[in-house]
Amino acid sequence: MVVSDITNVIEQWCPLEFAEDFDNVGLLVGNKKNNISKVLISHDCIESVVDEAIKLKCELIICFHPIIYSGLKKINTNTYVGRTVTKALKNDINIYAIHTSLDNNINGVNKSLADELGLKNRKVLIPKKNTILKLNTYVPNSHLSIVEKSLYEAGAGNIGNYSECSFISTGKGGFKPNKKSNPFKGTVGKRNLEDESKLQVVFAKNLKKKVLSSLHKTHPFETPAYEIFNIENIDSSVGLGCVGYLENPIGEIEFLKLTKRTLNSKVIRHNKITGRKIKKVAVLGGSGSFAIGEVINKKIDAYITADLKYHDFFKADNKFLILDVGHYESEQFTKKIIENFLKEKFPNFAFISSKIDTNPVEYF
Ligand SMILES: [Zn+2]
Repeated sequence: MVVSDITNVIEQWCPLEFAEDFDNVGLLVGNKKNNISKVLISHDCIESVVDEAIKLKCELIICFHPIIYSGLKKINTNTYVGRTVTKALKNDINIYAIHTSLDNNINGVNKSLADELGLKNRKVLIPKKNTILKLNTYVPNSHLSIVEKSLYEAGAGNIGNYSECSFISTGKGGFKPNKKSNPFKGTVGKRNLEDESKLQVVFAKNLKKKVLSSLHKTHPFETPAYEIFNIENIDSSVGLGCVGYLENPIGEIEFLKLTKRTLNSKVIRHNKITGRKIKKVAVLGGSGSFAIGEVINKKIDAYITADLKYHDFFKADNKFLILDVGHYESEQFTKKIIENFLKEKFPNFAFISSKIDTNPVEYF
């Protein structure tokens, strides 16, 4: 097995294209062709986790948070990042970070939080924009069905619960082949008009390479005619956070107790208790103050997140109960999600869950 055998499967599940622009995901240290025999899964990749990988003879660490995040201009051992990367390189250990590619997956970080709280009828809190592309291609009628089939097989044409979605219109395709050409139809040196169909399909942007490769394989033209557009439509399964409903409304204190019990939190910071009932709940693991406006717009009763500043509690404006449960605590199920996914995909390969508690925050 090589690194890419594992990471290619991860990227079908959590495409790198769906990560946030500020993020740094994918293979951060090593080479995709390096051989591996064991994988260590960790929430953070710090020096002690690399030590653990060395001890357990794991050549690949798959972690949630990226160890190299906002750029790395110097690699020296005066910083924890420098020490971690240096130790990984010296010991031929590859490091892969998944982070916001998993955050943006409806079955990622927030799914477990929502599962544990028992939330029903879930949707993404902030659907991600610009994840869908549209292909228009012009195909001779004789080859329409074969091109169409190959595009569906590459993953195009899926919209919500519908597959093989397309729009087809017929018309005339005009072209004049030059002397160097070898046209599928028509006469060299003459203007030709042929019966063609315009085939339109949408696809997720991470499938662009695959969709284009299928088009080129099955389209009979020497130079297939096509256009690809970015479209603003939203895929409701891709995005940050999750909104759902409790089976029965409960009071704020009861909700705080439920959250504390579920997350095994020592401390929860929250805004004033106003006597409201909690039914509609949003969860967003990690730093989630940026979503406060959306929580107000969606008339959510309680919002569980982390890393809130003093003024974020004012921003909530007592319109909902806001809970800061701690960054690590809000993402604590992530390691298990990654582990479960990989063990299901590779039942005969060794995936080891790190025993190191990487939460750097203590409570006194
Ligand atoms: Zn985080």
